Amino acid sequence: MKIKEIITANQAIFSCEIFPPKSYMNIDKTKAVAKEICGLNPDFVSVTYGAGGGTSQQTVEMAQYINQLGSTALAHLTCASSNRQEVQAAIEKLKEYGIENVLALRGDILEENRDKPRDFTYASDLITEIKRHGDFCIGAACYPEGHVECDSMEQDLIHLKAKIDCGVDFLTTQMFFDNTAFYSFMFRALKKGIDLPILAGIMPMTNSAQIVRSCKLSGATLPTRFRRIADKFGDNPEAMKQAGIAYATEQIIDLIANGVKGIHLYTMNKPDVAASILSNLSCIVGADRICMK
Ligand code: FAD
Repeated sequence: MKIKEIITANQAIFSCEIFPPKSYMNIDKTKAVAKEICGLNPDFVSVTYGAGGGTSQQTVEMAQYINQLGSTALAHLTCASSNRQEVQAAIEKLKEYGIENVLALRGDILEENRDKPRDFTYASDLITEIKRHGDFCIGAACYPEGHVECDSMEQDLIHLKAKIDCGVDFLTTQMFFDNTAFYSFMFRALKKGIDLPILAGIMPMTNSAQIVRSCKLSGATLPTRFRRIADKFGDNPEAMKQAGIAYATEQIIDLIANGVKGIHLYTMNKPDVAASILSNLSCIVGADRICMK
């Protein structure tokens, strides 16, 4: 099923994300993780695409497996390190595997490749290419605190609007830890005429190494309140996990109370963390999906 149809049919949706194994040899392990996550009954499950396209086969196969489990898959696809022929082959493969939903991304660019000519400069180029080759439901990324490379949030929003106009059906945000950053982004986006569904990306921070790595990669700001939690419990893995789950739960309750269109949980292949969060929200998230009545 197309994700845009799921979004239209529901007041708010709940999705999870998994990453495929780097080596094809480990695909069965990741399939077991996917099965557990699909068992939580999310509205869709997204599968990331390894930087540089190294997991291309695993991504498409995991997405196919998710669909076979009766859930809905969203396959990520990046373009920065691929030429036109490679991207076209990847799109054909998505069709061959029956994948209807694609998250179209530029991908990160290595410093040494920054000035090299590329067939695809921005995600918008990839979106145009995908639209030329099939009838996909297309998602794209957005950044409540601005993309790390962009000089200003205003410019980033102008680029985002241009990207959407190439044919985007919905957006998923980069992780954020301060909901006011998300609300402020939503307000500014609406002023730019961006009114498509935006799913809020929530990353449960359950260990200290992950906190440092994720913030460095995403550029997301850690609010003082969370910094205090990490300082206090960072050296105690069980306590940090519990605190990270509680923090993400609180963020989600606040977002739902304020009418968010959907929550995308960066599950990081940890079904137990996703299950704990859902259990904390058992009267807020209905048996099937977020209940906002
Ligand atoms: P773009 O939309 O192309 O934007 C990149 C930068 O270019 C921004 O600063 C933007 O302002 C600027 N820009 C855009 N258009 C123009 C223009 N016309 N002129 C000048 N500047 C412009 N990475 C992976 O490798 N695999 C994944 O599976 C993956 N999944 C992700 C999922 C989500 C929800 C998010 C938020 C990110 C994900 N990423 C993934 C990371 C993503 O690839 C990086 O953040 C990347 O640096 C930017 O990708 P983008 O699609 O947002 O790029």
